[in-house]
Amino acid sequence: MSSMLEIGDLHISYGQVDAVRGISLSLERGQIISVIGPNGAGKTTLLAAAMGLLPCSGTLRFEDQSLAALDVESRVERGICLVPERRELFGELSVLDNLQLGAYSRRLSRSAFKARLESVFARFKRLAERRTQRAETLSGGERQMLALGRALMSAPRLLMLDEPSLGLAPLVVREILNIVSDLRDEGISILLVEQNALAALEISDYGYVLETGEVALHGKSDSLVRDPRVRATYLGGATDDD
Ligand code: ATP
Repeated sequence: MSSMLEIGDLHISYGQVDAVRGISLSLERGQIISVIGPNGAGKTTLLAAAMGLLPCSGTLRFEDQSLAALDVESRVERGICLVPERRELFGELSVLDNLQLGAYSRRLSRSAFKARLESVFARFKRLAERRTQRAETLSGGERQMLALGRALMSAPRLLMLDEPSLGLAPLVVREILNIVSDLRDEGISILLVEQNALAALEISDYGYVLETGEVALHGKSDSLVRDPRVRATYLGGATDDD
């Protein structure tokens, strides 16, 4: 397998606060890596730095090339896309307009744009039915679908998702994570940040547990699910039958 994203000894500070303290992480092509950990562990900060939204020290490499000199737009052009925790949709705009904005940075021909839009609507039938509806009137699950659909409009090769299950009912969480799993099967590499540790580990290949800005534990997802420390702290002492 070839390397998609390599993060080495990453440090990120907000003034006096060292939010990320020497994190290293590696994502192979076509994998889902999950990053779990408590509030304030540095998960969102890590994604923001990988996207180019925050200054950092250490190494960040995408498809074997350094990202250091690339701004956010250039990273999007290379195929990196972040779906932030707050979704950041344009509430007063329609579903269709939001999707259109997702394709903006890729300067697509009209036919390529139409093809991509149709593939998003084929995946998210509910978005197709609601294409003229304002984003702010969508349900929480539909909004997350729109955030994912908008990201797919930029044809990402690396998708970074910040807590896609946040605030959603269990059935909707399952639906969203199934879609994330399908995207991996279609070849998109995924860095998944989740508080919902069990759900994330169930669909990912490898997991990292962050605590106070450091990697406390990492390993294959199925072995992390069985790890007594992970079970006690993040899975609420869940048993295999849960
Ligand atoms: P959560 O699961 O609650 O979203 P997280 O693991 O994503 O948490 P971060 O949001 O990355 O954690 O925060 C990591 C640390 O950085 C926290 O201590 C937080 O208070 C601090 N921090 C985050 N954003 C800022 C900011 N803009 N200014 C100052 N400190 C910040």
